[in-house]
Amino acid sequence: MMLLTATATKEVRADIRRVLRYERNDALESFIGSFNRTNLIYRVHAKPDKIKDQMIAVAQDIHSHHTIDACGILYVTSRKDAETLADGLNTAGISSRPYHAGLSDERRHQTHLLWRSNQIRVITATIAFGMGIDKPDVRFVHHFCIPKSLENYMQESGRAGRDGHDARCVLWYKRKDVFRVSPMIHDSNAAALPKFYQFIRQFCEGTTSCRRSVLADAFGEGELFVPAQHCNLKCDFCLKQVPNEKKTAQTSIALYVLDVLSVLKTEGIKQDVTFSQLCDTARNVGTLWKSISTNTSHNPSIAQLKVAAAKNPKMPATTWEKIIMTMMLNEVLVEGFIATSYSFTSYMRVNMNEKAKLINGDTIFAVSEVVDGGAGAGGAAKKKKVSKKKSASTKTASSSGGGGGGGGGGGGAAKKKKVSKKKSSTSKKSESTSTKHSPGFPVDISVSAGSKRKRNERQEQEVFTIDSSSDDDDDFE
Ligand SMILES: [Zn+2]
Repeated sequence: MMLLTATATKEVRADIRRVLRYERNDALESFIGSFNRTNLIYRVHAKPDKIKDQMIAVAQDIHSHHTIDACGILYVTSRKDAETLADGLNTAGISSRPYHAGLSDERRHQTHLLWRSNQIRVITATIAFGMGIDKPDVRFVHHFCIPKSLENYMQESGRAGRDGHDARCVLWYKRKDVFRVSPMIHDSNAAALPKFYQFIRQFCEGTTSCRRSVLADAFGEGELFVPAQHCNLKCDFCLKQVPNEKKTAQTSIALYVLDVLSVLKTEGIKQDVTFSQLCDTARNVGTLWKSISTNTSHNPSIAQLKVAAAKNPKMPATTWEKIIMTMMLNEVLVEGFIATSYSFTSYMRVNMNEKAKLINGDTIFAVSEVVDGGAGAGGAAKKKKVSKKKSASTKTASSSGGGGGGGGGGGGAAKKKKVSKKKSSTSKKSESTSTKHSPGFPVDISVSAGSKRKRNERQEQEVFTIDSSSDDDDDFE
């Protein structure tokens, strides 16, 4: 009997042995090919905020790196995104068609045939597309959505370059996208969230190692991996297109962010705060900040927060996003999920244990900071801004470029004292008011039941701009 699989980590291989009762090595001979496909070129780019700019960016990338007949796949989160991007690419002169579960079988079949026979160049698809496709000359796979794990990314990006010729795998990363995907994972399989956070931490936010070495670690080849030899300048890190960063202690900023969350709650301004809302409020913009700044109660916490806010260094929105994302990846903040009419919405909660450690000085919160304004894939345009901000405030954790593009460190590293430990296994992370998963540590999650439903409906509009009406059963398998 021969067993074949395309993408299996060490753990999965052990599982297969266990399930088949071939746990003894001599009972089943293994032949393991390397995960490393040297013709694939990996890039993480900052994803622009506006859909119009996203379409320009991706069209430019395709135009500038490929011949006019090169074919590829663009993975997106929703059906609507698939349609919009296909339209945009057609307008930019790149023939494209959407592919998702909302289309008829016949239409999907036709689209597949047109693409296979090179009559259209690009398929914009939800991740359901790909099972069983075997087109050897796919020259690029772009992700406009964040994959669920390193394994998923390997599988999806691995559809590029099966003919052995060079092919590009580009991930367009925007931090806010994390919170479009995590509720879907929570909904389908909450136990898979740690793998998703691992992907964010190591691949999307990682700026300290070769992209391939991250994949090598995940697939058990990390010890043998030599970037100069095995990557051979085929990722943006090895090409020095991501900024050089070092960790900077930012404990007081982290505590300030936690205070923002507490005050919003204790003053009854907002019980459940999304990542975006927290980023805005922390940097003193948006309606929630207005409610704080105009609050006339004599609660000392409000007054203290205003004083702390005035002392904060001026930092761009992307830097706030990076700090708050790092807080989440370090579990100072955790995601809480509340059911809406359609699916779940992610809210930021305080991990009271980690907060106490920060207050007591048992841990230091650290964020990556650009040290030399390194080239920065997709970050070149932002570089000037960064250096300007830096001169205004040398201690500021600078943005590494547009909320991604090799955005940032993802974890707190030790400086002198023990630093918040990034636990790679965070299966306890998710909690939900509907499913009552216990997070395993004290989390500030009280929800006022009375107005919950109304609030959820309102907030869902605030949080999601996508069509999450979740007949999108094709989005996540
Ligand atoms: Zn590399």
